[in-house]
Amino acid sequence: MQEDHFNQDFFRFLQGAPTPFHAASSMAARLRDSGFKQLAETDPWELAPGNSYFLIRDNGALIAFTLAGNDYQNQGFRMMGAHTDSPSLQIKPLAGKTSHSFFQLGVEVYGGPLLATWFDRDLSLAGRVVCTTSDGQLLTLLIDFKRPVAIIPSLAIHLDREANTGRAINKQKDLAPIVAQISEQIANQITAQIPTKSALNFSSILTEQIHKEHPERKVTTIIGFDLFCYDCQPPALLGLGNEFIAAGRLDNLLSCFVGCTAMTENMSETKSNQNRLLICNNHEEIGSLTASGAKGSWLNTLLTRIMPDHSKRHRTLRGSFFISMDNAHGVHPNFSDKSEPEHLPLLNHGPVIKSNANQNYATTSVSAALYKTIATEAGVATQDFVMRSDMGCGSTIGPHIAAGLGIPAVDIGAPTLAMHSIREMTGSRDPFLLYRTINRFLSREHLPRIEG
Ligand SMILES: [Zn+2]
Repeated sequence: MQEDHFNQDFFRFLQGAPTPFHAASSMAARLRDSGFKQLAETDPWELAPGNSYFLIRDNGALIAFTLAGNDYQNQGFRMMGAHTDSPSLQIKPLAGKTSHSFFQLGVEVYGGPLLATWFDRDLSLAGRVVCTTSDGQLLTLLIDFKRPVAIIPSLAIHLDREANTGRAINKQKDLAPIVAQISEQIANQITAQIPTKSALNFSSILTEQIHKEHPERKVTTIIGFDLFCYDCQPPALLGLGNEFIAAGRLDNLLSCFVGCTAMTENMSETKSNQNRLLICNNHEEIGSLTASGAKGSWLNTLLTRIMPDHSKRHRTLRGSFFISMDNAHGVHPNFSDKSEPEHLPLLNHGPVIKSNANQNYATTSVSAALYKTIATEAGVATQDFVMRSDMGCGSTIGPHIAAGLGIPAVDIGAPTLAMHSIREMTGSRDPFLLYRTINRFLSREHLPRIEG
């Protein structure tokens, strides 16, 4: 696969994945197209060697796996993982409110976004809605308004002279996006097109959108929803030489896309002699402690079903390796003092191996050596990251999976700037460089062994 084709496909994936639910659904479609069969956790399974499967949990998380063509219960899994969620603004259950002719939606902050970047953006809404149909069925549907329907205007600098030196953001008061204007009394032609206060409520807005996107469903009532705001601006290549990518949700849809593409590219007959698995958890940005998060039991439960014999499973897991993919901090030219002076990852210079003495990252010297060996074979350079010793360190799903399964793991990721901004930045070569190492990981005949 070529790099520019890869990036174009990545951009399409990003645009079709404004929420974890859409990300999982979009990966499911790609896996299905490549011959993966969907499993339901409530059904009995008859797994066959050489076949590929996937399952989705709670709409927002996905596991895909390919079983080796021969004796899959006796060989390790090449596993990799990422997360589907990104920091965002989530709509509150009783969302609609009016103020000074504006119709606004109450929002909660999901995860740790850079809130200042959410102001003055053309926002849209997407997520899942739970509803009832005319025949009494309960149903979950995904919706995506796909056009700018909301905005959080900044307070003008004339009304806050400290705006550029010390503006704090009040999460309850300052963030409610405006989605419409309401006419109290119909006065002229313009206001005649604006809904009256009594006609506008959030439930009716959602019902109308569902009818538009799912006309075949006879939806009568909205029971609940998980909806998020997102930036409508499409991903872009930028820089004088197109060196960079700017887009929302690079953390961590970049890794989901790399993992999903590598799984589908490597499933042909001749390459199916390895056990492979991709897990894309939800809820990493809020601590991972959910049924579809990396601190939950999902992966363990699945592997127990694939390998019911305890002793075989244990041996298989000990021969497995997990690559935890999540974006890394590249050195920022304006804030280079925030990086460890001897560890300065550059955009477009290869995937970053993340280490932390307190194991906030799962990397060990052994797992780093394994990944470096694979990357070298793929002709890809790697970079090392460690946080400054006087600053706190982030984390990933890596340590949870490594601890939960008792398997060696490495934390790696594409170098990025502006992590958790509404629009993040990476190098235009970085997604493909990461992909090449993962491709090598999945297709290598045996995992490299380290003695001792
Ligand atoms: Zn992340």
